[in-house]
Amino acid sequence: MEVEEAQVTTEPPKIHRLDESVVNRIAAGEVIQRPVSAVKELVENSLDALSSSINVVVKDGGLKLIQVSDDGHGIRYEDLPILCERHTTSKLSSFEDLQSIKSMGFRGEALASMTYVAHVTVTTITKGQLHGYRVSYKDGVMENEPKACAAVKGTQIMIENLFYNMSARKKNLQNSADDYSKIVDLLSRLAIHHTNVSFSCRKHGAGRADVSSVATLSRIDAIRSVYGVSVARSLMKVEASDMDPSSSVFQMDGFISNSEYVAKKITMVLFINDRLVDCTALKRALEIVYAATLPKASKPFIYMSIVLPPEHVDVNVHPTKREVSLLNQEVIIEKIQSVVESRLRSSNETQIFQEQTVEPSSSSPMIFRKDLNRNPLPSGQSGSKSQKVPVNKMVRTDSLDPAGRLHVYLQAEPHGHLVKNTSLTAVRSFVRQRRNPKETADLTSIQELVAEIDSNCHSGMLDIVRHCTYIGMADDVFALLQHDTHLYLANVVSLSKELMYQQVLRRFAHFNAIQLSNPAPLKELIVLALKEGDTDPKPTKNDELNEKIAEMNTELLKEKADLIDEYFSIHIDKDGNLSRLPVVLDQYTPDMDRLPEFALCLANDVDWEDEKNCLQVISAALGNFYAMHPPMLANPSGDGLQFYRKRKSFRNNEESLPCSTAGDDMITDDEIEHELVAEAETAWAQREWSIQHVLFPSMRLFFKPPNSMATNGTFVRVASLEKLYRIFERC
Ligand code: ADP
Ligand code: MG
Repeated sequence: MEVEEAQVTTEPPKIHRLDESVVNRIAAGEVIQRPVSAVKELVENSLDALSSSINVVVKDGGLKLIQVSDDGHGIRYEDLPILCERHTTSKLSSFEDLQSIKSMGFRGEALASMTYVAHVTVTTITKGQLHGYRVSYKDGVMENEPKACAAVKGTQIMIENLFYNMSARKKNLQNSADDYSKIVDLLSRLAIHHTNVSFSCRKHGAGRADVSSVATLSRIDAIRSVYGVSVARSLMKVEASDMDPSSSVFQMDGFISNSEYVAKKITMVLFINDRLVDCTALKRALEIVYAATLPKASKPFIYMSIVLPPEHVDVNVHPTKREVSLLNQEVIIEKIQSVVESRLRSSNETQIFQEQTVEPSSSSPMIFRKDLNRNPLPSGQSGSKSQKVPVNKMVRTDSLDPAGRLHVYLQAEPHGHLVKNTSLTAVRSFVRQRRNPKETADLTSIQELVAEIDSNCHSGMLDIVRHCTYIGMADDVFALLQHDTHLYLANVVSLSKELMYQQVLRRFAHFNAIQLSNPAPLKELIVLALKEGDTDPKPTKNDELNEKIAEMNTELLKEKADLIDEYFSIHIDKDGNLSRLPVVLDQYTPDMDRLPEFALCLANDVDWEDEKNCLQVISAALGNFYAMHPPMLANPSGDGLQFYRKRKSFRNNEESLPCSTAGDDMITDDEIEHELVAEAETAWAQREWSIQHVLFPSMRLFFKPPNSMATNGTFVRVASLEKLYRIFERC
């Protein structure tokens, strides 16, 4: 096959210019990917035209018909001939305007694109006119002279037979229900942001609209009318801002769900400078905060509007303008993350909610009682909605409790005081049992180990961990932190190792699972681990021994498979393959390069006879495996680059050791293993991301630094800012 092809292509093919209509159709396919992209463009045009009411009608998921009607300023008669040509717009004239663009559109491509992949009819009337005009377009040009017609204020654009000339695209989009729900989703999102505009969206011929919002002054009212009462009542307001040009300039306000909200998937409605966009990094960062604060809880609902100076946002990175890039994105994300985190935490501290759902008749969304301990609910108090719920049915979530578990407060006497801490453990365990019928924390050794973490916690360091700001990585292992006016270096490897260990114990027997795409044969893993450090690549007698050890160890682990599966979600199948690992911190998977070492440790170091020791060693092995070690591939920035020199082979088959020539002159570009460098760069960047967005936020919430860390070099205070300032003042 390959040989044949090579022969055919010996003659270079002739290059010719593509037909303009082909170029346009290709471009159109990019801008209008699905029916929902056409709706988005049309509705944005209506918003740009300052409409106060926008109505959408859809037939057959948008493939048959999309009709968007607005009451905006309309289109001038004399502009109609060029309306649907490519790059005609009323919103941008010079490139510099892009810097401060406020309108949704600016590329002048949307309408043009639609005429290349569908039949487009425009009806419009401008202010002061007695009648409007209707005109149809094909391939960018008018099909006929505009016809005078009766019209109400604004513009109506009709897109018929979308993708009629792109059969492959059309075939791929046959699932109209899916496309319709995407359109409904889009309009729901727009409706809760543009609260001064009323939106509706319905299926052609349907009496009821699937989205229907009226202009309102309050965002929460808009959310209630679009997403429903139960969503709206589980939301809390959040705000954040930074006006310091040296770090970041932005203002954010939004609504985020509390622990009452239940959903399988995250809903993230994000507007940046009034533009509906995706920001994967921010979304993931917030998911982590939720997973960390409300473990086992549902995915959040988040509405956020971020406003930045227009020149800090590059809106022109994508033809559909869906992704934007921001100046100082990392700083902004971190600020927002920490605001959300503390909002969730404080709500957990003060929020009491009923065990059962509130009856629909109740207009008060939830029952707030601050300082319940000091002010137990007086019984017999009238007029209070909360009175319907006996205190002993109230459940409190407490962020101070490591895993944010549910606490129940029982009424000791009818007029009651709340039960004190002593019996709390019993009550907690009862609640846990109800939530997780597969209750296993009655294994006293696990309780003992968790209790040891708590009793061994260093309070001074706890304060640092809870309230520090992550500044960055100082080297491969130490992170720089600020707490009050002090700077600290913290060993990320030991911190993460301990945090993972603690989390394993807390999640004991209740893990979610990471499924390995390829089950890993334990025997081979163990052989690999045994060989590590063995520099001699040639087969030795040791190999036979290693094979035997590995075989025996695999058999042993197969015997213990049930136990480690049930308690640690480590699944080993009957052939001795490892296929599942536990989720120890959400959004984080361990570095699989360390799997061999883990397998060996599991097989070799565990004393299966002593329950407590066994559980502790397995937890510690997991902690070590999941810790954020530096990646195995050397850091390619700076000096590390020399590890990526191409290995030159000599005639005697010896390889030059990559680092043996250190100190040599410059490394030229073609001497480098670029693929490997790219892989290493990704691994290092990924780790740094996890340290900032997974490790530190989770530490703030869960970590109990053991006393030993105060003295073993995990935390080192490097400077106090007051002193530094004093030094600078002298300069
Ligand atoms: P862009 O929005 O990037 O300018 P479009 O192709 O979407 O490009 O639209 C081209 C022009 O048509 C717009 O600049 C605007 O002047 C006009 N236009 C489109 N839709 C409407 C509408 N609903 N109401 C008023 N003017 C519109
Ligand atoms: Mg537009």
